[in-house]
Amino acid sequence: MQRNADIASSRNHASSEPVAPGVEYLTTVFVNLYLVGAPDGPWILLDTGLPKTDALTLRVVEKRYGTGARPEAIILTHGHFDHAGSAGALADEWNVPIYAHPLELPYLTGRSDYPPQDPTMGGAIAFLSRFFPHTGYDFGTRVRPLPEDGSVPGMPDWRWIHTPGHTPGHVSLFREADRTLLAGDAFTTMDLDSWLANVTEEREIHQPPAPFTSDWDVARRSVERLADLEPATVAAGHGIPMAGPRGAARLRRFAEHFNPPQRGRYVGQPARADEGGVTYLPPPVPDPLPRRAAVAATAAAATIIFLRGDRGAGSPRAATAPYRPDGRRRSRSAHAR
Ligand SMILES: [Zn+2]
Ligand SMILES: [Zn+2]
Repeated sequence: MQRNADIASSRNHASSEPVAPGVEYLTTVFVNLYLVGAPDGPWILLDTGLPKTDALTLRVVEKRYGTGARPEAIILTHGHFDHAGSAGALADEWNVPIYAHPLELPYLTGRSDYPPQDPTMGGAIAFLSRFFPHTGYDFGTRVRPLPEDGSVPGMPDWRWIHTPGHTPGHVSLFREADRTLLAGDAFTTMDLDSWLANVTEEREIHQPPAPFTSDWDVARRSVERLADLEPATVAAGHGIPMAGPRGAARLRRFAEHFNPPQRGRYVGQPARADEGGVTYLPPPVPDPLPRRAAVAATAAAATIIFLRGDRGAGSPRAATAPYRPDGRRRSRSAHAR
């Protein structure tokens, strides 16, 4: 069967939507989670969404895999709050490990925070990013490095690909058999910089979420590498996935013309990091609007969420309220097995 580009929006739904054979996705507020694996076999959860959305995810998971179902593992494309926010709660619920790239582990084991976001880059997501945390998490002994051979624990058809730039240890998942690509924040399939697109979810390939991308040159090379895979299904952490030739062609075209933004804290020189976390930050760009922006961004975020009518979230208020960087860290002892 030739699949077309009509993968449905998963926003506002209390169930997941098909992406490719054995793969479904779920959008919580503005970020996608992927349920990888057929209902009658082993499965993994790729990314876990915002903090406090675990109850919604559990409901959707049980619809697909049955009551009490648990994955082989949680895999994180990276540790930003919108992808790792519910990882601790879900891993505790299921008693499963959390896998990520070795270069991402400092931000998942309490050793480092991410480089601060740059809210001065312009556009919707940069504007709202003032309220987002850049702190790392500490999931303690649940965290494991992904296997060095590129295999994905529990899912032999898949391999992980190191796609840094957005974060140092960012990974994407790829299934060669039908060329399905799950790209996390290596790029997006919607324009996060556009207020309108945040409501309409129009499908376009766009740059990784800009205010949180700390090395643009490396991010560009990662996009090129993913375009070279000629994926038949193009799915990312933000936006409705695309299936069919249109997605691959758009990714190829995007890779050929991908230029970093004109300005921004990490555009001229990247943040640097190693196995222990961040080692160098370029100087901050002055933010002229912190106070006014704070008020306006709150109103704007509330409007977006209202327009979306996202009533499916387990704790929608908590999930959409301004995030406090403090208090989001999880203690190591709470996760000791
Ligand atoms: Zn991210
Ligand atoms: Zn993201």
